[in-house]
Formats: sequence, C-alpha cells, structure tokens
Amino acid sequence: MKTISSLMRSEFHSLRVLTLTPDSEEGARWLGSMLNAIDIANVKNVRALSMVPALLREGDIDVIVADVAHGGLMLPSLLKTLDAATPMPRFPRILWVGQPPPVNLLPAPWPALAEQPAVRRVGGLPVTALLAHARLAHRAGINVGMVYGGGKAAFTEALRDLLLAPSNNRHASCSAPADAPTEVDVIEALTTGKNLRVMLQPQFDLRTRRIIGAEALLRWRHPGVGEVPPSVLIPMVDRLGLHLLLFSYIETRVIDVLLVLKSRQVALPIALNASAETVCTPGLAQRLAEKMQRAGLSPHLLKIELTGDLPVADELLLSASLNTLRAKGFPVSLDDFGQGTSTLNLLAKMSFDEVKIDGAFVRDMKTSASAQAVIAATVSLARLMNLKVVAEGIEEASCIEALACLGCPTGQGYALARPMELRDFFDSVSNKE
Ligand code: C2E
Ligand code: MG
Ligand code: MG
Repeated sequence: MKTISSLMRSEFHSLRVLTLTPDSEEGARWLGSMLNAIDIANVKNVRALSMVPALLREGDIDVIVADVAHGGLMLPSLLKTLDAATPMPRFPRILWVGQPPPVNLLPAPWPALAEQPAVRRVGGLPVTALLAHARLAHRAGINVGMVYGGGKAAFTEALRDLLLAPSNNRHASCSAPADAPTEVDVIEALTTGKNLRVMLQPQFDLRTRRIIGAEALLRWRHPGVGEVPPSVLIPMVDRLGLHLLLFSYIETRVIDVLLVLKSRQVALPIALNASAETVCTPGLAQRLAEKMQRAGLSPHLLKIELTGDLPVADELLLSASLNTLRAKGFPVSLDDFGQGTSTLNLLAKMSFDEVKIDGAFVRDMKTSASAQAVIAATVSLARLMNLKVVAEGIEEASCIEALACLGCPTGQGYALARPMELRDFFDSVSNKE
C-alpha cells in the first residue's frame, strides 16, 4: 500500500520544473537539496533570466523556481511579455526562493498582512513589497508563491500551496466577446435608445447604512450579443465621437428618475458619469441648468462624475468647465481617484465637491497595508480640501466597518447594493423614507 508521503512524491515527481540557479553557492546547494528531497525528476537549470525564453519554447514547464534576488522579481514581467508576443496556453507558476529565514511566507490564499512579520526583508526588499509584486503578477494571471530557506517541509508546503492556488484566468477577463457589437450597432442604439437603459447603484452612509444618493450606470442589451458592459461600449462611443449623444440619453433618464423621486417626496442626488471631453462641451452647464429648471428640479440633485478614462487635452478648459458646472449649482465629483487620469495633479489643480476612491484600493485593503494607507491618506486629503469622499467597489461586508474606521463616511459596492433596475431603486428608497 502506498504511504501518504509516497503519494506526495509521485505527485511532484511528474512536475516539469525550471530553476534559475541562485547566485550564491549556499543558495544553489539548498535548492538542489530541496528538489532532490521531494523527488522531482524533470528539472532543467538555467543560470540567467535571458535563457528562460528558449527553455520555455522547448516545451511545457509547470513551475519556475527562482531566487527572488536573481531574476525572480523580473520573471512575471518576462512571462507577460513573452505571452504578448506569442500567447501561452497557460503560464508556468513561479516559486520565489531566498535566504533566510526558514518560514513559508505566502501560503494561498494570501494571509492578512497583519499576520506577516512586520519588518522582514528578503532579497534586499521588505516582504510587503514582494507581496504587492506577487499580487500584481496574480492580476496578470501569473501565480507566484514564496519560500525562504527552511527545510523540506516548508518547501513542500510552499510548492503544494502554489500548485493548488486557483489561477487567475487572464484570457477570460480581457478577451472580447465572441460576437462583438459593431459600430453600426452602437450608432443605432444611441440614436434610437433601443435596448439601452439606466441602472442605479445606491450610495450609503457607512455608519447608518442609509441610502444617501445613487450613481446612474448605462446598460446595453444587444439583441445578438447580450449584455454589453460599459467597458466595451464606452470606448466605442468615444471612438465614434458619440459621447454627447450618450450623455444626453443618460441625462434625460436621470431627470425622469429625479422627477419620480420628487413625486415621492424623496430628495436624493443622482450622479452621472462624464469624460473630460463631455464635460468640456461648450454650453453644457447652461443647457443642463435650463433643463433642470424646466423640470422644476434643483441642480444640486444632479452630480457630475468626471471619469478618468480619457486624457485631459486642455486643463484650462476643463477647469473652466468644471467651475461653470459648480457655479450653476451642479456638484462635481472626481471618479476613480488614483487610477488612469484621475490623479493628484487633477485634484490639486481643479475644484471638485467630492472624490471617489477607486475600487481597486478598496478591494486590496484587506491584504495590502499600502492600499489602506492610500485610502486613509485620501480621506485626510479630502478633509483638508473640504471635499466629500466616497469609497467605491466595496465587495466585502468587513470592509464597510473598516472604511468607516479609516474615516470614510460614504460608499458604494456589491456588499451594500448592486446596481439595480429603476423600479427596485424606487422601492428601496420609498420603503426607507
Ligand atoms: P464607475 O463610474 O467607476 O462605476 C462603478 C462601476 O463599478 C460600475 O461598473 C459598477 O457596476 C461597478 N461596481 C459597483 N460596485 C462594485 C463592486 O463592489 N465590485 C466591483 N468589482 N464593481 C463594482 P459598470 O456599470 O460596469 O461601469 C463601468 C464604468 O463605465 C463606470 O465606472 C464608468 O466609468 C463607465 N460608465 C458607466 N455608465 C456610464 C455612462 O452612462 N456614461 C459614461 N461616460 N461612462 C459610464
Ligand atoms: Mg462613476
Ligand atoms: Mg468609479
């Protein structure tokens, strides 16, 4: 009968491993002894990172073991570059090794940073920097594990964790839908409004959990393709120069929403997304103000979120346009702060009423001390600049309390409420008022 250890051996036995030999003799000896101890038969060695591409072209590799200070750090980026040139069916997994100390630092799933030793440095870098680098690699679809020194048990556990960790399928997240909408489809949808609709995602006071407003989000159900996400539609709209048509469609729907809310004695601001190009449209603020006045609505109920997806062509014009909107009474928010063109530069030079912390920081806050620091600093900055602050992309209930503790008063995200159809939004605010 096979013992548990012989079963483990046979599992690793068939692994195809490539090692980037550590610089130091001690490191090379340690790695050799580890690979021997766990009975890996199929091992190829290279001495330099530049030799890795040739070995990968020769055949499938399951795991690359590399010293973090000797090529290991660059490996994820090298794999990504190779994949961009000739797509790989799957990435090899990477096991970072280093000396010392004898602890497996990164079992999967990543442990909370609080559990990590506070000041440990490996390969000349703080462990927190290595963790951040491993997270970025994971986002690119590359799994990275780490083990530093130690014996067979630590090495085995790190390798097992790495092999069992779920892979992040990069092709699933970035590939275009099989049946992509055409430009003609986009033009037809925007000119007729057919199959377009607006959903509303409520925003909450994080302490009381009361709804304090909502963001209008575009949805397009293409008859052949199905739901087309804004990440596909908006760039097409921008390329076709149809952003004003889109804005005018959303603006009309949002004014309708505000009128329904008013009829129910509910006064909640609704935010619309607009790129720098849309915001800079001559006469936009005046046109909006007239429309709101005709509808008998106060402009403070219509908030404009400046999205960060297009570069700012003319800062002076953008500043003038944002100020004109604010002068007419429309609140202006800086969306996705910390990503794309939504930068400190913009926050310092333009005037806003609100800043929205990008969801990427919120999603990382449980595992990244840096993400927590960015959130705390943005909250302080907002306070100093007399701005409101909203955290986006709150997916976990535990983050609601944590954000409130960091001083962030308001937020939106799946943990609070998903974007909802208008009638569901009306029901939820009417029930609560
Ligand atoms: P955004 O303005 O930052 O909107 C928030 C996005 O985050 C929405 O994605 C929303 O559905 C999503 N979201 C909300 N809570 C969570 C969460 O907990 N986790 C995660 N992972 N995502 C969450 P959506 O609707 O796909 O929109 C994406 C982007 O497209 C928007 O980002 C905005 O920049 C743009 N967009 C959407 N509607 C419009 C529009 O009417 N006009 C313009 N110009 N852009 C729009
Ligand atoms: Mg937005
Ligand atoms: Mg946003």
